[in-house]
Amino acid sequence: MALLEILTYPDDRLKQVSSPVKLIDDELLAFISDLEETMRNGPGGVGIAAPQVSRFIRIAIVDVSSKPKIKQHGRLVLINPEITHWDGMKVGREGCMSVPDFTGNVIRAEQIKLKYLDEEGQEQQIETEGYEARAIQHEIDHLDGLLFLDRLVSRRNDLFKRKVYKS
Ligand SMILES: [Zn+2]
Repeated sequence: MALLEILTYPDDRLKQVSSPVKLIDDELLAFISDLEETMRNGPGGVGIAAPQVSRFIRIAIVDVSSKPKIKQHGRLVLINPEITHWDGMKVGREGCMSVPDFTGNVIRAEQIKLKYLDEEGQEQQIETEGYEARAIQHEIDHLDGLLFLDRLVSRRNDLFKRKVYKS
C-alpha cells in the first residue's frame, strides 16, 4: 500500500479525459487499494478519482458512510461508471482534494441511476440521491476532465476560501 501524489489545480492534466478500464487484474486491484488509502488519508475524503493521481483511467471511489443519517451504499468502487438517469436539481457545497484551498456551490442532479463494474468485473446498477449522488457526480466529472470549478455559476458568488485544514 502506498499514498499517491494528488494533482492540484491548475495542473493541466486534471483536464484530461480518462479511458475506460479494459482489464481488471492484480496490478489494477493494487492500484485501487492505493487510491482508496490516498482518499482515506485526505481530510474529509469521501471520494477520489484515478486521474487525480495521474492515472487516466475510469475508476472512482466514493464512500460517504462517515456522514451520519443519510441514505448511502457505503464503500463504492466504480469502474467505468455511467450515469443513466438524472432527476431534480439542487445547489450544494463541494470540496475537492485537487482544489485544496476552496469550496464551491455547484448544481447537481438530486437523484441518479448509475451503472458500473465492481472490482470483480460484475456489472452493478444502483439508484442514489442527495449527498452520495453529488459525490458520485463530482468524481465522474474528474473522469471527464472537469473540476467543480468548471461548474460554478459565478466565481464571484459561488467560490469560497477554505479554512486551513487541521492536520
Ligand atoms: Zn474532486
